[in-house]
Amino acid sequence: MLNKILIANRGEIACRVAATARRLGIATVAVYSDADARAKHVQACDESVRLGPAPAKESYLCGDKIIAAALATGAQAIHPGYGFLSENADFAQACADAGLIFIGPPASAIRAMGSKSAAKALMEKAAVPLVPGYHGERQESDFLRGEADRIGYPVLLKASAGGGGKGMRVVERSEDFEAALASCKREAISSFGDDRVLVEKYLTRPRHIEIQVFADAQGGCVYLFERDCSVQRRHQKVLEEAPAPGMTAERRAAMGEAAVAAARAVGYVGAGTVEFIANQDGSFYFMEMNTRLQVEHPVTEMITGLDLVEWQLRVAAGEPLPLRQDALRIDGHAIEARIYAENPEKGFLPSIGTLARLRTATAVEFRLGEAGSTRPAAVRIDSGVREGDAISPFYDPMIAKLIVWGADRDAALRNMARALAQYQVVGLATNIAFLQRLIAGSAFATADLDTGLIERHHDTLFPPATAPATETLALAAAAVLQEESRFAQRGDPWSSRHGWRLNGKLSRALAFEDEAGAAPVRLDYNGDGSGWTLTVDGATHVLQVESSHDGALCIALDGRMLRADVVREGEWLHVFDGGAQRSLRHVDPMAHAGHSEAEGGRLTAPMPGKIVAVLAQKGASVAQGAPLLIMEAMKMEHTIAAPVAGTVEDILYAVGDQVAEGAQLLEFKAD
Ligand code: ADP
Ligand code: ADP
Ligand code: MG
Repeated sequence: MLNKILIANRGEIACRVAATARRLGIATVAVYSDADARAKHVQACDESVRLGPAPAKESYLCGDKIIAAALATGAQAIHPGYGFLSENADFAQACADAGLIFIGPPASAIRAMGSKSAAKALMEKAAVPLVPGYHGERQESDFLRGEADRIGYPVLLKASAGGGGKGMRVVERSEDFEAALASCKREAISSFGDDRVLVEKYLTRPRHIEIQVFADAQGGCVYLFERDCSVQRRHQKVLEEAPAPGMTAERRAAMGEAAVAAARAVGYVGAGTVEFIANQDGSFYFMEMNTRLQVEHPVTEMITGLDLVEWQLRVAAGEPLPLRQDALRIDGHAIEARIYAENPEKGFLPSIGTLARLRTATAVEFRLGEAGSTRPAAVRIDSGVREGDAISPFYDPMIAKLIVWGADRDAALRNMARALAQYQVVGLATNIAFLQRLIAGSAFATADLDTGLIERHHDTLFPPATAPATETLALAAAAVLQEESRFAQRGDPWSSRHGWRLNGKLSRALAFEDEAGAAPVRLDYNGDGSGWTLTVDGATHVLQVESSHDGALCIALDGRMLRADVVREGEWLHVFDGGAQRSLRHVDPMAHAGHSEAEGGRLTAPMPGKIVAVLAQKGASVAQGAPLLIMEAMKMEHTIAAPVAGTVEDILYAVGDQVAEGAQLLEFKAD
């Protein structure tokens, strides 16, 4: 066995590899960029070597620096993880030339599968079924268009050197071919430095089913069954599961054998994945081979009880495969969800920021294959970040992989729903609520899978914003009260600097708002010890703030006990109550009347009300915080103050005017 390895990656996969190495007593060397000096993966390893500045080109993609680090630290082998240099044949060769073991296939196998076109040509020879298409050398536009016409529309253009869904273009009609080809080539040259393309029949409603293969250097090769990765956005996987719903034993064997044939055809060694595209009738075609450990390998580990990284390390050390095909079994069902820092509502745009809060279901960090443990955990979380860490613009915005296991698919789904509900992330946008809708939707729940699932169910996956529930508003209001009493260092709400008296009664107006609009509430303190009267939309409720345990907030709303975690982030209150996250902006009119829209020249009414005083004059230049206008709303006065120093360009209302919530009150120009 190996004694010491260098892990040439970062994030969750570096942590994942380190966990197995540690269990096997193999020493580990981490490499890191300046952005990652204190990253989790560095702490997960025994020693570490700095590579360079944050950009991957100057750090994780510097093969020579990585090889030098391995030699300097006495590592015998390099594990490349996925992404970065994992499918770089020159790097694999350079490792071999430096006397280091590359934990992956031989450079020749990477090269053979590196071009989708060349790989297809090879697979044709190995009698692996292919999608009808053209994957030859000729690249003239007219010729390719002729091929597309022959194949029949729709067709799919792919970059031969492609990956990550980049460059792919669906062409519906012959007339659109030229423009699509040009755009595919543009993206291919900028992403891969190679603009060769291939043309394929574009299958409608296909499924993405891939086979995990494993080969050793003695000629052994097995398949570890399939994964269904049909649920995708922009041709990138979102949910992965194993086994594939509806798979029959015969088809599994046929696909498994085709995948093994593909691996054998290129002299494969180590872990690899053969990706197939499958029709609803079960017919399947080779798409490509990924010559590395796959992001979604945990679902295979969960159903086989095997540690694939352990297999990689054993094979790299020259050992034969630990098990033969007939000793491999599927147990139960596993589903993986990729938790991304991204904004599904904005086209899945990555979101950058610091994980101010990161709470998850209680999960076991990777722990398969431990002596005596054959049962996978119900919930596994593979993550490369901790609370307080940043998701930077330099690398992949994945926060974690959430993997669940169940005796059957329904049980796994329930575990997934529960584990997603326990996620609490503050500091950046995530896809968690989207994933919750996705797994709750009928299509996924009934395994009506195909690669267009997300687009087809767009309307249910992206429902319009609805007003927050009274429970949510009550929790948020209670959180504000609690903050203020904490601020005043006394439990006595009368001490709050925000309280006001009206006919001897303490009253509060809280202006909450979210994407669904304003959600103002009113609180009246009942001096009789019965707590507060909460008014939402004209309806009154009894609110009591209970003593809270373990940091959670407990309230009684009309006698019903509610618990939640409410986390403040600037103006925002994030309410996590048993599965749903609701974020409310708390517009504190005393603190900063108007609000940030002032940058855009607007100062708006935080709630409906009446103008009672105009303090500023048109044209006046005012200092930050200067009172401009006073309005009365919900029986209290609100001062609208200048958010920053600037000029009052216009005053749009006079004393006595009624104004609607959100109405622009002043034209204001910041200095
Ligand atoms: P898969 O087929 O396993 O989904 P992809 O074809 O999407 O994998 O390729 C793996 C992807 O992983 C890369 O394209 C890249 O976007 C992403 N990636 C690369 N390195 C990392 C990393 N360290 N952490 C997370 N994601 C990464
Ligand atoms: P990448 O290298 O980007 O992973 P793939 O060739 O694996 O590229 O294709 C990525 C995804 O694109 C597949 O998972 C599938 O959803 C879709 N796709 C690929 N080929 C076809 C095709 N011929 N018809 C329909 N969809 C396809
Ligand atoms: Mg692929």
